[in-house]
Amino acid sequence: MSCVDSPIASGPQLRKIRRAVSVRYNAREVVMGGAAPIVVQSMTNTDTADAIATAIQVKELARAGSEVVRITVNNPEAAAAVPYIREQLDKMDVDVPLVGDFHYNGHKLLNDFPDCARALSKYRVNPGNVGQGAKRDTQFAQMIEAACRYDKSVRIGVNWGSLDQALLARIMDENANRAFPWSAQAVMYEALVTSAIENAQRAEEIGLAGDRIILSCKVSGVQDLIAVYRELAKRCDYPLHLGLTEAGMGSKGIVASTAALSVLLQEGIGDTIRISLTPEPGGDRTKEVIVAQEILQTMGLRKFAPMVIACPGCGRTTSTVFQELADRIQTYLRDQMPVWKKQYPGVENMNVAVMGCIVNGPGESKHANIGISLPGTGESPAAPVFIDGQKSVTLRGERIAEEFQTIVLDYVRTRYASVEA
Ligand code: SF4
Repeated sequence: MSCVDSPIASGPQLRKIRRAVSVRYNAREVVMGGAAPIVVQSMTNTDTADAIATAIQVKELARAGSEVVRITVNNPEAAAAVPYIREQLDKMDVDVPLVGDFHYNGHKLLNDFPDCARALSKYRVNPGNVGQGAKRDTQFAQMIEAACRYDKSVRIGVNWGSLDQALLARIMDENANRAFPWSAQAVMYEALVTSAIENAQRAEEIGLAGDRIILSCKVSGVQDLIAVYRELAKRCDYPLHLGLTEAGMGSKGIVASTAALSVLLQEGIGDTIRISLTPEPGGDRTKEVIVAQEILQTMGLRKFAPMVIACPGCGRTTSTVFQELADRIQTYLRDQMPVWKKQYPGVENMNVAVMGCIVNGPGESKHANIGISLPGTGESPAAPVFIDGQKSVTLRGERIAEEFQTIVLDYVRTRYASVEA
């Protein structure tokens, strides 16, 4: 008997194969484009001149799962600190590649601080911020020549907040001469895409290899980002760095980034992503890494950490026990991952269900690797645990959380063990 696929298909469209760009630091190589997995990036918000604070934050971002970390290099003090930051990271055994973010004076900093130019693995060049008038081409060329000299990759990162005004004026003039002029929005899109592609071509003319170039065209509106990247993806085969710039704070930033990136990723567009969240004052910078990973994982594009499936709770869960357990298990799993991913290969495929009552609890728990169905209001104070679809034990009393965590750990050790230290 032969089988045919159901007409109900799932999954993203195949990614268009783009050039593969390698970003290296010592033995660590991160590939963007080609058939490589979509790369998660992040950016520090420390003063780069404060080398210790920056090295610590880079370490935190890398530990959370950022595969490349960008730091701003905005003045001589920051440029002087970069080699020292790299040295501190080496001492902490953190080999994540560093990207230098340059605006206005990048040509000068890369020239005056060769150790900085060497210590970075990639340069971000914003073609709208490399200089005005006649200096623009010279200073752009100086940055690209530095990348050639030190064998570095470059992201040509266009941003609509700093669009090249001369190029915008040229495209507006062209538009004015059309029989049927485009809207102001269409002109803006065209200027963004043209800026990225023309500057990439210019970089190749200067001598940078085409497989050293990544492009981005960031805007802050969801529909704008989708429109711009669809066009950019059509017109070139450079790998694309996706991100909604200035996404905002809290749920708004997460929702807007997810909405925009999900559409593009589903269409096979995007080789590396960064989520530009504004942290709460004193907030944890690693949140942007977790959100990036969760977008990719919930879309089925990559796996980073075990998933916790938890119901939202309702009037049947009147105590906080259920929320506390879901939060505790999720935090526990994520905290273990830096060690577990080495000791227990495949553990990132595990699903854990934490459910609030008998309505969907046992059913959802049976679909997970491990699930627990807590007692809802008025139910018997017992929490059945399911392992691989079978009821295992029933937990009772005050120590349900601790006991369930131990069950999860035992499961990981037996199911995924292969190189336990
Ligand atoms: S599983 Fe139970 S507690 Fe959770 S949302 Fe459904 S009915 Fe409410």
